[in-house]
Amino acid sequence: MFQKFLGGKTAIVTGSNSGIGLGVAHRLAMAGADIVLNSFTDRDEDHALAESLAREHGVAVRYIGADMSKGDECRALIERAGRCDILVNNAGIQHVAPIPDFPAEKWDAIIAINLSSAFHTTAAALPLMRAAGWGRIVNIASAHGLTASAFKSAYVAAKHGIIGLSKVTALETAREPITCNAVCPGYVLTPLVEAQIPDTMKEYGMDRDEVIQKVMLERQPSKEFVTVEQLGDTTAFLCSDAAAQITGTTISVDGGWTAM
Ligand code: NAD
Repeated sequence: MFQKFLGGKTAIVTGSNSGIGLGVAHRLAMAGADIVLNSFTDRDEDHALAESLAREHGVAVRYIGADMSKGDECRALIERAGRCDILVNNAGIQHVAPIPDFPAEKWDAIIAINLSSAFHTTAAALPLMRAAGWGRIVNIASAHGLTASAFKSAYVAAKHGIIGLSKVTALETAREPITCNAVCPGYVLTPLVEAQIPDTMKEYGMDRDEVIQKVMLERQPSKEFVTVEQLGDTTAFLCSDAAAQITGTTISVDGGWTAM
């Protein structure tokens, strides 16, 4: 699995200075791909992260700051990278509230970052993939792209949307050596999940442990969090030759959540 089968390829991973995106970047770098890391910040520590990933895996790694809530910055990210063989649309945020109390600006931000960004990056990346004669697009959706939970209207809508976008992208590239799929993780204990624990405690009147056991892992029959390494491996598999005919579909990595 971790031979350098992606040597010579460049992978752009949006929202990759933490969590799943960083885990995916590590696995693709381990497989030999040059990496473009991204988030909306442009700090010394972001560039230091790129340097340490490059040292660890012996590949070229750049950090390019671009705000995935803005369509023009999404497209500029791909243009500045100059090459995009693998595009992982991963940037995402969450907000938890009942619909009547859900702030409209949070709805707009979630739809922009979790869904529209993938439209813009895909639009900019496809011409580069076509010119190179090969491409892989992996959209990090969610179990919430296939099922719903109360209080997550914008997130569930965006994640269902990105699965639809993945299918259309796959159909438009079906006759080319380009694939597009959506990975649907269950709960992974990243900063995004940590951040929703306080609001969920409030909504359900529970303490932290109860939220983890009764709300989060309640949905996950394995009773274990998914790891970023497992999602990195799944993404690397989708970039391998074995997955050349896998396109327009979803792969659940959710401990059995969507089997229920
Ligand atoms: P995280 O908060 O650790 O990472 C999110 C990343 O997106 C960070 O690098 C952050 O800087 C970046 N980001 C946020 N806003 C951005 C913006 N405007 N522009 C560019 N980058 C931005 O969260 P995570 O859990 O690693 O989430 C990554 C993806 O995985 C998201 O799409 C999320 O919906 C999805 N996901 C997460 C889980 C989970 O349980 N953690 C489950 C299913 C799906």
